[in-house]
Amino acid sequence: MDREKPALGKAIFLDRDGTLMKDVGYCSQPEQVELLDGVCDQLPRLKKAGFKLIIVTNQSGIGRGYFAEEDFRAVQRELEKQLGPGIIDATYFCADTPQRESTRRKPNPGMLLEAATDLGIDLGQSYMVGDKVSDAEAGIRAGVRATILFGTDAASKALESGATLIAKDFAEVAEFILGG
Ligand SMILES: [Mg+2]
Repeated sequence: MDREKPALGKAIFLDRDGTLMKDVGYCSQPEQVELLDGVCDQLPRLKKAGFKLIIVTNQSGIGRGYFAEEDFRAVQRELEKQLGPGIIDATYFCADTPQRESTRRKPNPGMLLEAATDLGIDLGQSYMVGDKVSDAEAGIRAGVRATILFGTDAASKALESGATLIAKDFAEVAEFILGG
């Protein structure tokens, strides 16, 4: 007799720099971590609604030799401390430089696909949130339900990104996801 497969979960894939925290350019020190408005309030709401919260972040600073993987992990620990315990379910990062062939570096969807397999995620019920066109593209290529961009970069790039929504802040991101 076939065993019933466990139901798949849903997730929100989150870019890190410029989405959850201020983009300082190759962040390598915990002291540089500064959460963006609304993030701390909205992530628990999204989590309560049943979404896994998964960070997917390009970190070419590692591949370029600007900082070490251990520095990245120290920044990550500080970020998760500020967000609160247990808010982030998993983090995927890609150290590849743009010059290198990579299936994982956004706009490629490798990190999202990996997470979906590892954590049993239904991409069709999931969202990608970021601040760059490459975030929207990664979400679209992975087949998520909707992609949301926000931040200063987003408005001018709205048309080319193919994003579902251009939001003004993280509160609007949460309203869109929770409303739909
Ligand atoms: Mg970003």
